[in-house]
Amino acid sequence: MPRDESARTLVVGAGQAGISLVTALRELGDTRPVVLVGDEPEPPYERPPLSKSYLRGEHDRDSLVFHDTAWFADRGVELVTGDAVVAIARRASAGSATLASGRTVAFDRLALTTGAVNRALPVEGGDLAGVHTVRTLADADLLAPRLRAARAVVVVGGGFIGLEIAAGARALGAAVTVVEATGRLLGRSASPLLSDAVHDAHERRGTRILLATNPVRVLGDDGNVTGVELGDGTTVPADVVVVGIGAVPRTELAEQLGLLVEPGGIVVDGQARTSDGLTVAAGDCTIGPNPFARGLPGPVRLESVPHATDQARAAAATLAGHPTAYDRVPWFWSDQADLRLQMAGLPQGADQTVVRGDVAAERFSLLSYRDGLLIAVESVGAPADYLAVKRALEKGMTIPADAAADSSVPLKRLITRARDTDPS
Ligand code: FAD
Ligand code: NAP
Repeated sequence: MPRDESARTLVVGAGQAGISLVTALRELGDTRPVVLVGDEPEPPYERPPLSKSYLRGEHDRDSLVFHDTAWFADRGVELVTGDAVVAIARRASAGSATLASGRTVAFDRLALTTGAVNRALPVEGGDLAGVHTVRTLADADLLAPRLRAARAVVVVGGGFIGLEIAAGARALGAAVTVVEATGRLLGRSASPLLSDAVHDAHERRGTRILLATNPVRVLGDDGNVTGVELGDGTTVPADVVVVGIGAVPRTELAEQLGLLVEPGGIVVDGQARTSDGLTVAAGDCTIGPNPFARGLPGPVRLESVPHATDQARAAAATLAGHPTAYDRVPWFWSDQADLRLQMAGLPQGADQTVVRGDVAAERFSLLSYRDGLLIAVESVGAPADYLAVKRALEKGMTIPADAAADSSVPLKRLITRARDTDPS
């Protein structure tokens, strides 16, 4: 009997969440055919090195790719690269997608793992040669040789991308200026104390940081960038400008499907289900509930590899008919040249912060508390602290704030049941 072509799973977006979802489906024993469509030319690859070792020429291009083509063939997964889903419709379990190439893919199960695109710098000159951003391998391939030859680099945006690239450019020997619109670095993800510590650490390495300002114009000569003009009329010379001012979720297909979408992404529930109850979504394109977002109102948007991986596993379980709650502790890392940041939990909404270790020596941890209970850790050069808090949060345990500052006592020895210290 001919195989029913419509009885297959379509996964749109072959990035971190897409490959994690396909992997999880097979690990769950789901054997139904899968079509994984990605619009980039490469098979799925990891992005973190793109703003770090890869830019400095320390990472081999082939090693970024998760799997070779045989891996997909062996698992009954058709990988389509360099082609985009441009139109999509579904009614219950019958759906159809049209690709840019004109091909039509029928499906009965659908996952959206479409990620995000970097925000472009919305000022005159933002498209001059020498102005770069990094989201894809192609972006990094364009920037890497320019960065290695650069004498003066302006980084617009003091978030993770901006600071990782600034640290790399500085290590390569360029004069580096970071221009951040808000009043502190890493404002979207870090506690104010971590922002200050990271600020000082970059300044110690010779990076100039300008806060509460942003470029009003990128200056150029003969089509090539020569610097940026700031709001106060001053100019900062540059032969390379790197823009890291945030990423916008790709929600256009979800909108075509009539799914609930907010500015932060496609709205999903705790099992990665979208508003139609059938389509799942995971990764940077989503916004959803998180049990660890104790200080944040409403759904949260998390943009990290661990989130994309864990939420994709939940999405796979939902598709396979065994929904399980996505309730993993959020965790993050960022390598800014020789500075390694590790974070677990979400510090937003903390009403108390305990400083442990030596901030000036760049070996410390910040433990965030809300109503007396541990909610997050941010560590620099203190992996044991980070691991202890992550484990405590995973087990629903806490570490008493009054004991946590004593760095002669390992944090793992202080882990205790939350109710032993819960004031309520
Ligand atoms: P993506 O990885 O962006 O994948 C989505 C894919 O879907 C893309 O390839 C996109 O082109 C494709 N797509 C979208 N729409 C369509 C369509 N209609 N048809 C076909 N294909 C489509 N996180 C960390 O935890 N630690 C780090 O150190 C870290 N470093 C990073 C460094 C950089 C430079 C960047 C850009 C991100 C970094 N991140 C890091 C974040 C992390 O990489 C992302 O959170 C993660 O990749 C999200 O996975 P995703 O699958 O949701 O999105
Ligand atoms: P980000 O964390 O949103 O940081 C961007 C920063 O730039 C924000 O502080 C933003 O302020 C500021 N900004 C916005 N417009 C500006 C302007 N015109 N001039 C100057 N500053 C401006 O995003 P990102 O660092 O660009 O990273 C993009 C994506 O990659 C995110 O998904 C991020 O999580 C991911 N990433 C993660 C890692 C990691 O986890 N280690 C590493 C690299 C990249 P507002 O908040 O006010 O907009």
